Amino acid sequence: TGQTEVVTRFAPSPTGALHIGGARTALFNWLFARGHGGTFLLRIEDTDRARSTPEAERAIFDGLTWLGLDWDGDAVSQAAQAERHGEVAKAMLESGTAYKCFSTPEEVQQARDAARAEGRSTNFASPWRDVPESEHPEGQPFVVRIKAPREGQTVIEDAVQGSVTWASRDLDDMVLLRSDGTPTYMLAVVVDDHDMGVTHVIRGDDHLANAARQKLIYDAMGWTVPVFAHIPLILGPDGKKLSKRHGATGAAEYRAMGYPAAAMRNYLARLGWSHGDDEFFTDEQAKDWFDLAGITKSAARLDFKKLEHI
Ligand code: GLU
Repeated sequence: TGQTEVVTRFAPSPTGALHIGGARTALFNWLFARGHGGTFLLRIEDTDRARSTPEAERAIFDGLTWLGLDWDGDAVSQAAQAERHGEVAKAMLESGTAYKCFSTPEEVQQARDAARAEGRSTNFASPWRDVPESEHPEGQPFVVRIKAPREGQTVIEDAVQGSVTWASRDLDDMVLLRSDGTPTYMLAVVVDDHDMGVTHVIRGDDHLANAARQKLIYDAMGWTVPVFAHIPLILGPDGKKLSKRHGATGAAEYRAMGYPAAAMRNYLARLGWSHGDDEFFTDEQAKDWFDLAGITKSAARLDFKKLEHI
């Protein structure tokens, strides 16, 4: 039919427990993939070596396994793709969609401080943006920055949030490679999603602003931009940011309390997604019914009273 297969992914950073919010993100990706006969991938975003731990990685595997959210193939380690991320940065340098910036961190900071003091945008306008290679200093450390468009708009057609527009001048020339040659999160995530063939990026709406910046990388590489679906966060019953003081926030805690995984799936599915008045549905129905259009735009509130009854 000319339709491409659906590929989704869950891409947690292994820096702590698997939270209810992460578990729901994984569930939505899993439901969407399974409902479309597609593929659900797992990528461990372990590039922050200082904060990533094997225990947190294990907690992700255990939590997903308990919830029955099976992923296809082996989990991908983002850190293991660093060489590939570097290659893409190099390709962007060669095509002129990125450039080497020799400004020191102090110079960047000074420019930002000055801009702030004058009430201007604190986006760093690198003086190296248009300096030809022949005039580059030798043996000096540099970062690789994207050459973001200065004019026009960057638009994300989000499946949940609708059409979201940024003035391109508000998107700065973000860093793709640090001076030690390591990739930034923005570069890594785009390269990995592209390489893994991800068609739908379903994740928390705290990443919505990143999507605009990530689109610039897709455009620079001439890659197809995936469908984005940024889902609202889960709040506590009082509408405040969910935290320990509300009660259990981690998947492992619910497991330890003896909640059945199937009931947990049903509960999580209904957090920010609705299907008419149906309170309970089977996995098969959830896979059949789940759609991005049914995701609510407003934040879902965790309802501990309902949880008690599952
Ligand atoms: N690793 C990011 C996080 O845990 C998610 C990145 C993404 O889904 O694009 O918040």
